[in-house]
Amino acid sequence: MNLKLFNVKEYTLRKGKTFLNILCNLALIIVLVTTMLFVAANNSTASYAAGTCDIVSFSGTYTYDRMLADVQALSATYPDVVRYEFKGQTALGRQILIIKLGNPEAPRQILVHASIHGREYYVTPLVMKMAEYYAAYEKDLLATTCFTIVPMANPDGVAIAQSGAMATTDVNYQFLINSIGNCDIWKSNANGVDINRNFPIGWGLAETKNPTNSYAFYEGITPSSEVETVILEQLLLENNYDCYIAYHMRGNIIYYYAPTCSPEVYSVSRLIADTVHNSTGYQVVVDFEDTEPNGSFADFAQIFCGIPGCTVECGKTLPPDGAGQVSDFYSKNLSSWKNVANLYISKVTY
Ligand SMILES: [Zn+2]
Repeated sequence: MNLKLFNVKEYTLRKGKTFLNILCNLALIIVLVTTMLFVAANNSTASYAAGTCDIVSFSGTYTYDRMLADVQALSATYPDVVRYEFKGQTALGRQILIIKLGNPEAPRQILVHASIHGREYYVTPLVMKMAEYYAAYEKDLLATTCFTIVPMANPDGVAIAQSGAMATTDVNYQFLINSIGNCDIWKSNANGVDINRNFPIGWGLAETKNPTNSYAFYEGITPSSEVETVILEQLLLENNYDCYIAYHMRGNIIYYYAPTCSPEVYSVSRLIADTVHNSTGYQVVVDFEDTEPNGSFADFAQIFCGIPGCTVECGKTLPPDGAGQVSDFYSKNLSSWKNVANLYISKVTY
């Protein structure tokens, strides 16, 4: 059996199946999910010690510049498994960092992103530290699984949440940021667009919205109007990812349901969410009353691209409160990447 079958590009309902095809696929799903649940039940839930990893630190404010220094150090220390590149340029001139953790040609490919919402920036050091640990101690896994990591998907938003209008020297943007205000709870990018409302599937349908540029909940003038959105879209469209994990704050909960996604994507997304739950203890939640997509990353990934995955909401409080939370995030989440990869390793024959 080949878990790649779950890729909707190969068998989406939109392509017009026969009834017999649907029955066969349902039988396949039942067999796969039953077997994978057995694997999930046997996942490691052990916490890992930080070991000798000493590059990524949780102390102080984790800025874009710290992230750049850390990825350079990680690549220099672990050149066989840590590679990186930059894509695009934000309104305030920051490039989006893309890390390849593992063998880029590995048969299993997993997309991870964090800090698509500026104020949730504690999850950036979380995924950076997890990358460091895996580079140091999970070489065998990284031979067969590659994690594409976007540790700060919205760097301008993070900078605004961390330092307000000081995030830029551009007086026009300083004026815009100051006129909007709410910098300490800023979710959007520098244009005041909420990236997680700017994707084209269900764009404009969110119930909670702001009609114009705002610290949160403004979907933009058109779908995919923002460079941060386009970069994530391109990654999804140009790479045959097995699944994704998106890191947000807050709630200690896991979402996995994108309304109108295919049954296949739904089933595997639930399995991935349950696997992350086994590692973290975070509650898996689903809101079936949410009947329409709303322009989120998850909607684009699951509904349009047919890539399953889950959204992990770490923690109870937003920055700058509760800085000590990151160590807790780390101990809870560290094993989850391996456990999700093992779902595929156990099932896939290439
Ligand atoms: Zn968020």
